[in-house]
Formats: sequence, C-alpha cells, structure tokens
Amino acid sequence: MRTEAEAGEFVNVRLPIFLEQGFSCLEREVVAERVCCLCGTCAAFCEKIKINEESRNELKPEFVEEYDTVCGLCYAFCPRTFLPFSELERRIFGVARASEAREVSEAREASAEPLGVYRSCYAVRSKKEKGDLEGRVQDGGAVTSLLAYALEEGVLDSAVVTAADEQWRPQTRVARSYEDLKAAAGTKYTIYPSVLGVKEAFEEGCESVGFVGLPCQIQGLRKVQTSEQPYEVGKEKIKLLVGLFCMENFSAGLLEFVSARLEKEGLDLAGVKKFDIKGKDLLISWGASGGVHKIALDEIKEYESEGCSVCTDYTAELADISVGSVGSEEGWSTVLARTELGEEVVKGALEKGFVEVKEVEEKGLGLVRRLAVRKKRSGSGGKAGAGI
Ligand SMILES: Cc1cc2nc3c(=O)[nH]c(=O)nc-3n(C[C@H](O)[C@H](O)[C@H](O)COP(=O)(O)OP(=O)(O)OC[C@H]3O[C@@H](n4cnc5c(N)ncnc54)[C@H](O)[C@@H]3O)c2cc1C
Ligand code: SF4
Ligand code: SF4
Ligand code: SF4
Repeated sequence: MRTEAEAGEFVNVRLPIFLEQGFSCLEREVVAERVCCLCGTCAAFCEKIKINEESRNELKPEFVEEYDTVCGLCYAFCPRTFLPFSELERRIFGVARASEAREVSEAREASAEPLGVYRSCYAVRSKKEKGDLEGRVQDGGAVTSLLAYALEEGVLDSAVVTAADEQWRPQTRVARSYEDLKAAAGTKYTIYPSVLGVKEAFEEGCESVGFVGLPCQIQGLRKVQTSEQPYEVGKEKIKLLVGLFCMENFSAGLLEFVSARLEKEGLDLAGVKKFDIKGKDLLISWGASGGVHKIALDEIKEYESEGCSVCTDYTAELADISVGSVGSEEGWSTVLARTELGEEVVKGALEKGFVEVKEVEEKGLGLVRRLAVRKKRSGSGGKAGAGI
C-alpha cells in the first residue's frame, strides 16, 4: 500500500510537467473535435499560434509558422486537453473534494460541493461612486469595484478586462485605473479569446496582473500557473483571477442576428445599454428611452458556441473570486471568495468602502448549486453527479 507522500506523488503525475506534444496534437484533439472554447490561452503563450477574426468565428486557433518546436506548452495549458480538477484544487487551495480528501493530510472536511472549494459567500454591491456606475455595470458592479480596490491598494498594477466596441464586439483591455475598469463593465455575450490580454499586459511591462474572465479562461490560466515546465512564461506575474459564472456563450453571429432584429425597429447596436439573460430570454436594454427588447433563447440556439457543449464549470471553480448574478437579488452580485487572497480582496474592499455586502440567502445559493449541477450533467453528456 502507498504511503500518503507516495500517493501525493502519484497524483501529481497527472498534471504533466513537460509534454513533447506539438500544435498538431492540440489541433487533432481539441480543434478538430470542435471542443475549443476559444479561451485564448494557447495563443497568449506562444507566438506561433494566432487567433484572428476568421479563426475566431471558426473556433480555430491557427499555427502560423513553418516549424514547430514541439515544446508542449499549448497542449499543457489548454483547458480542453486534460483538466485534473482535484489535483488543480489541491495545488491552488490546498484542499480537495470528497474523492481525494483521504489523501490530503491538511484537507478540511471536504464535501461533494457543486460550487467547488470556497471560503465565504456574499451578496455584493458597489458603493464607489454609486450613481456613476449605475446602468454601466451588469449586476452589483462587484467585479469593477473589487478590481478598483485591488488597483488602488497596489494588490495589482493592472487588470485584464473585456470591454466592447460601439457594435458590442468584445475587446480586451489592460486596465490601470478605475476609469478603465468602468469602461469595460457589463457582460458581452459573444465568445472572445480574452486570455490574450494577459500577453498584452506582459508586453506593457505589468508585474502584478489581475484577470477577469469566464470559467474556461480561468482554467487555462490556472493550468499556466500550476504546471511545471522548463520555460519562463511569466506565470508569477499573474496574481488574481476573478471568474464569472457562465452557463453558455454565443458565436459572433449572435450580434449580426440581434442587429438585424433591431434594425426592423429602427434601432441599432450602438444604442444598446446592456445585454442580459433572464430566465428564457435575452434582454436588450435600450439607452435613452429605457426600453427593453426581448429575444427568446430558443430563437438564438444556433449561435450557442459549440465549444461550450462539454463545459461542466458554472461558477469558475478555480478562480480566486467568482462572481455571478444568480443567487442574489436584482442589483447585487453573488460573490464566492475561494482563496485567501480572494477573501482579503473582498474584505479589504468592504473595509475601504468600495463595496457593501450582505448574506446570500440559502434559497439563492441553492439555485446556484442546482444550476451548477445541471451544467455538470449537460457538459458531461448527462453522466456526471454533483461531486465532480
Ligand atoms: C458569457 C457570459 C455568461 C454569463 N452567464 C451567467 C450565468 O449563467 N449566470 C450568472 O449568474 N452569471 C452569468 N454571467 C456573469 C454576469 O453576467 C456578470 O458578469 C456577473 O454577475 C458580474 O456582474 P458585475 O456587475 O459584478 O460585473 P461588472 O462590474 O459589470 O463587470 C463585468 C466584468 O466582466 C468582464 N466581462 C464581460 N464580458 C466578458 C466576456 N465575454 N469575457 C470575459 N470577461 C467579460 C468585463 O471585463 C468586466 O470587468 C455571465 C457572464 C458572461 C460574460
Ligand atoms: S512552439 Fe510549443 S506552444 Fe507553440 S505551437 Fe509548438 S508546441 Fe505549441
Ligand atoms: S481551448 Fe483555449 S487553449 Fe485550447 S485550443 Fe482553444 S483557444 Fe487554445
Ligand atoms: S460555457 Fe464554459 S466553455 Fe463556454 S464560455 Fe462559458 S465557461 Fe467557457
């Protein structure tokens, strides 16, 4: 029988250190299988991979050079090649769930918790320049305000966010100030390789980088942070990961569909203030008039991104802080602080008056859990239980 230390070593082998796998392996196992979620991690850490507009629409990161050095980084970092959740949790949080808890000496009482590992949960609302943020942020403005605190207090020197142009096409930005953060507030429901913004931040000389993104993007960056390989990729500069809850995302075609629909009413995308998904509808809020245009989710099913079909992570289980709208009342965000740093940021933001917090009601948290379980089931073809 293995000793505890040997069991630990055995488990670690499942997160490979150096794989002689090139882009062709990634292409065969992820891109050709149509499970690429376009997180952008492969292209963010290798100059030889590009994701331009065309490859974005096709969900096809492309190898753009003659010779592949087969260093294995893209394969090792991609969240779709292998994703040993328990081992990643062990490395990030020092704890694991029920299936692994026996093997981890310092593990707290772990349970088959569909929300993953977390220390505390709050309903959070921005207090910073409240009127100023109103109408700009998606829910409680928790993401914008927590990052504003982290920038202002020097926890971070930058935060990679996903803004949008006039036509609601997503664009990454390296935010250095509250003004930059404010300009990127609000949800963009089209798939975009936001992890590429981390590369921009490194190129701009940032040393303490925060990142806000979707669960798949957080998975990619956690693999970067936790993998052991012989290359300098700057992973020590990635300091804080804020993950968003996510049930699904849509292809760029959604914007064309919405634009055509709005045109019939003499409206256009440039006038849209906010997109939101509530129940079974996509809600499009109109700026000046305050009107809301509704499109049933059934009508836009064909735009659901193919790479989302295998996704089992609703609440960004590997983030430092996860934020979503479900679980709290209108105008508040549900926030799960998962790591020590995540909890420090939420508490610090509260102490310095950036946010106000209250308890999340058990009923609200129950709904988040049910949705998390539903996603685990649908993403694993109906096979998974709540404990994975
Ligand atoms: C595609 C998508 C699907 C979502 N699905 C759900 C869901 O099913 N249930 C749920 O409860 N919540 C969901 N959310 C999260 C929710 O819409 C809010 O983002 C969250 O509640 C935070 O609100 P806030 O007011 O605190 O954020 P804000 O202060 O408004 O800040 C929002 C931040 O999100 C970032 N962002 C916006 N769009 C993207 C994007 N496409 N990719 C990466 N980063 C982005 C921006 O950089 C900004 O910093 C989803 C978000 C996205 C982007
Ligand atoms: S050089 Fe490395 S990271 Fe880049 S494509 Fe080849 S194997 Fe992937
Ligand atoms: S899932 Fe992310 S890392 Fe994997 S191939 Fe697609 S863009 Fe690259
Ligand atoms: S459903 Fe999963 S794969 Fe799709 S955007 Fe959300 S986190 Fe990424």
